[in-house]
Amino acid sequence: MVCAVFSGGLRCGYPGLVLYLPADVHQEILAHCIAGLPDEACGLIAGHPGTGLVERCYTTRNIAASARVYTVDPREHLAADRDAEACGWEIIGVFHSHTHTAPYPSATDVSQAPDPSWHYLLISLANPDPALRSYSISGSEVVEEPVAVCSGYNSNLTRQE
Ligand SMILES: [Zn+2]
Repeated sequence: MVCAVFSGGLRCGYPGLVLYLPADVHQEILAHCIAGLPDEACGLIAGHPGTGLVERCYTTRNIAASARVYTVDPREHLAADRDAEACGWEIIGVFHSHTHTAPYPSATDVSQAPDPSWHYLLISLANPDPALRSYSISGSEVVEEPVAVCSGYNSNLTRQE
């Protein structure tokens, strides 16, 4: 378990898992969302299973090509799955943008959330400063989880500030 390295009082497991997002991944997600305008943009995040430690993102096409909904290209999803697995990671969540609404999962987002262990990242472009939030979605229950942007992790999975 990687939890042991979080001796600083960080919690592990649900509820209350913190999502750790390396700063370069954070930037890549925001840039992909802005580039996707006027449509919603989407992608997947990969990291360490059972944790909120993100290692990288996979920017994907929104095959719905819509400003209101998103569908990750299934072929890109499969490729991301394989790539992450080859690195010893897993796909641990998905991100998408809301072009004009708050960074909160829509009813459609909730009903289509496939995995209660995933992190659902919402990026709102409604204001000049993009807002990024993360949620766990289990059935109809939506719980926001704190997001910590960090520089990365060292070899024993301790985050670096
Ligand atoms: Zn949405």
